Amino acid sequence: MELFNEKIQQEKDYLTQLDTPIGDSDHGNNMSRGMTYVVEAIDTQSPDSLEALLKIVTANLLSKVGGASGPLYGSAFMGMLKTYQEGESSWRKILQGGLESIQKRGKAEVGDKTMIDVWAPVVLALENDGLTDEVIDEAVEATKPLKAKKGRASYVGERSIGHIDPGAYSSALLFHAMLEAEAE
Ligand code: ADP
Ligand code: MG
Ligand code: MG
Repeated sequence: MELFNEKIQQEKDYLTQLDTPIGDSDHGNNMSRGMTYVVEAIDTQSPDSLEALLKIVTANLLSKVGGASGPLYGSAFMGMLKTYQEGESSWRKILQGGLESIQKRGKAEVGDKTMIDVWAPVVLALENDGLTDEVIDEAVEATKPLKAKKGRASYVGERSIGHIDPGAYSSALLFHAMLEAEAE
């Protein structure tokens, strides 16, 4: 979460830039604000288990991030929490629970040009030979030619083609942070 926060703060302006042609230019602010609350809450509450940590992340993302991405990221972490509570302990299963939870909430499918287009290939890669930074970046890049069918970007229709999806990019930062944390 600390690494994810660092990346979000570093890339805040770029996330806003991505949300400009196909959105309302707030994705950088939304994520930056939410993750500031997340790391502050982790700092003050010092969770001593993965369960406690996921609860803090979920609560802060749900209540502090505005826009579509707040409830969607909140749902993601809530789904991860639920999967973990059900006894799953592999990241593949936990992230799959997160993915399913985002889809339950947002009803987006693969190819709709949303964060799902990064979450789905990441879960798939974990099922196969493993996840790499390249897999993550390729998934982000692959959102470029897609026409948005969900969220605010769908309002611009054909004009969403040729732009990277901002939520796909912020999700990529989460997974890069995960790989980095794992390597430490
Ligand atoms: P808003 O669009 O409300 O301003 P943000 O700009 O913070 O919210 O987030 C936009 C991102 O949310 C998009 O780039 C996309 O990845 C994601 N998103 C929007 N709608 C959906 C959905 N139904 N399912 C999954 N992700 C979505
Ligand atoms: Mg926006
Ligand atoms: Mg908005």
